[in-house]
Amino acid sequence: MAEKIVKTDAEWRRALTPEQYQILRLKGTEPPFSGEYCDEKSSGDYVCAGCGEALFASDTKFDSRSGWPSFWRPVAAESVAEVADTSHGMRRVEVHCGRCDGHLGHVFEDGPEPTGLRYCINSASLDFKPTEK
Ligand code: FE
Repeated sequence: MAEKIVKTDAEWRRALTPEQYQILRLKGTEPPFSGEYCDEKSSGDYVCAGCGEALFASDTKFDSRSGWPSFWRPVAAESVAEVADTSHGMRRVEVHCGRCDGHLGHVFEDGPEPTGLRYCINSASLDFKPTEK
């Protein structure tokens, strides 16, 4: 991974759309089935909308019917960082970009094989780069 990206709050506000800022920097959540990548099935790479770091590949995306893009593995272990999240009266594991610390979503242990994990990710935290044909 390239070196860490650190910006001030004002710099992030300028760099991101209001929705991206709300989710990536304030740990917001987009409404289910509202995100642009929920039903995306093309081949390609999903990179961080905040810093461009490669996070997930289309061949690990699956239809979780949760309303958010779901993946069973990040592209590399260091791509995403995980931290316990007890907000909203729930015990969850929050995931964020390993490079810019932008909030991505949560990871749950009810995903498909081979990992059994479900990375439940906001579309607004991602930028999809289709594979060139
Ligand atoms: Fe990032």
